[in-house]
Amino acid sequence: MALINENYLKLPGNYLFSEIARRVEQFKAEHPKADMIRLGIGDVTRPLPGAVIEAMKKAVDEMGRPETFRGYGPEQGYDFLAKKIIENDLTPRGIEAAVDEVFVSDGAKSDTANFQELFGLNNIFAVTDPVYPVYVDSNVMAGRTGVHKDGKFDRVVYLPCTEENGMKPALPSARVDMIYLCFPNNPTGMTLSREELKKWVDHARENRSIILFDAAYEAFIREDGVPHSIFEIEGAREVAVEFRSFSKTAGFTGTRCAYTIVPKEVKVYDAKGEGYSLNSLWLRRQTTKFNGVSYPVQAAAAAVYSEEGKKQVKELIDYYMENARIIREGLRKAGYKVFGGVNAPYIWMKTPDQLSSWDFFDRLMRTANVVGTPGAGFGANGEGYFRLTAFGTRENTIEALERIATKM
Ligand SMILES: *Cc1c(COP(=O)(O)O)cnc(C)c1O
Repeated sequence: MALINENYLKLPGNYLFSEIARRVEQFKAEHPKADMIRLGIGDVTRPLPGAVIEAMKKAVDEMGRPETFRGYGPEQGYDFLAKKIIENDLTPRGIEAAVDEVFVSDGAKSDTANFQELFGLNNIFAVTDPVYPVYVDSNVMAGRTGVHKDGKFDRVVYLPCTEENGMKPALPSARVDMIYLCFPNNPTGMTLSREELKKWVDHARENRSIILFDAAYEAFIREDGVPHSIFEIEGAREVAVEFRSFSKTAGFTGTRCAYTIVPKEVKVYDAKGEGYSLNSLWLRRQTTKFNGVSYPVQAAAAAVYSEEGKKQVKELIDYYMENARIIREGLRKAGYKVFGGVNAPYIWMKTPDQLSSWDFFDRLMRTANVVGTPGAGFGANGEGYFRLTAFGTRENTIEALERIATKM
């Protein structure tokens, strides 16, 4: 008899997006003529930049000729892409990284989910609340979270991000070994300043803990003084790993390419206190369990850094950030309290009239036919909040805000 990995039984169900889909389907069945606008899921709507498409086509042609055909590539990605990443994303910000510290992958979701494998099961980890659900769920599957009670796991340290603390988490009061941070944040759209991020790096250095830093939205940062990378902070190379993705930045959600920076200094320890390089461990993990991103996709990702590519990606981000401005200002004008949307494609709003986030979801769907994401789906501290995304089309974004202003 095959036994189940009982950790999977502890998962609190794929409640959020399936519940949203269920409610939308039901509403559409009752109101078949309703013109729904979806500003809920974090997927992009603009097509891939032209430079990316050109590079992908060329690479596909290369795969069709014996002299240029490529089979298995390096599991950690081609040097040509890692070099472009370093030259364009890291060096200009004063970040040093070697080619073998950049690991190309098929997604920041898989990397943030897989990385916990390198840590002992007795580690205690901290996450912000609300939070992107992948960090907690992947640790549940691994068996690192204890039991689920009253919406929380008893071995997870939740760091509340509330209006009182400006959506910026306080350092944990008890010792933790791993810390997941995501800034600019999904779902709140908020960021940390250099000084704020430095507190985390210092804390990690004092405790020999490791920060797993998700920078999937760094390209959306508009304000000066907001670090794009944790490695802009002194000492971070000793204690941090950073996840980045072409998904939101360059429209790769359906194409799949991302990268993770693992400095050689970062160490995890055995019971005797002997240190082991996370970089070597991640290489070992990836070479065993991953066979690399396809050549046409890596060639496409490299084109993001061509002159044309950079221009087109900038236009893409400008487009979404203009949507963010429309949503942020429109909501504010309509009397809502809003966060984010300045350095991130997410707008986090307080629900009016003390409504629960699901009650506001229903009201918005029924009254304005606009679909967003209830904050409660991201954690206990998301209750009473609601997320709208700037990834819709311009037309839909304008129309949605007009409806909110006039109908709600
Ligand atoms: C969208 C998103 C990612 C990107 O995931 P990919 O697998 O690269 O598409 C990573 N982290 C957060 C917080 C996200 O919202």
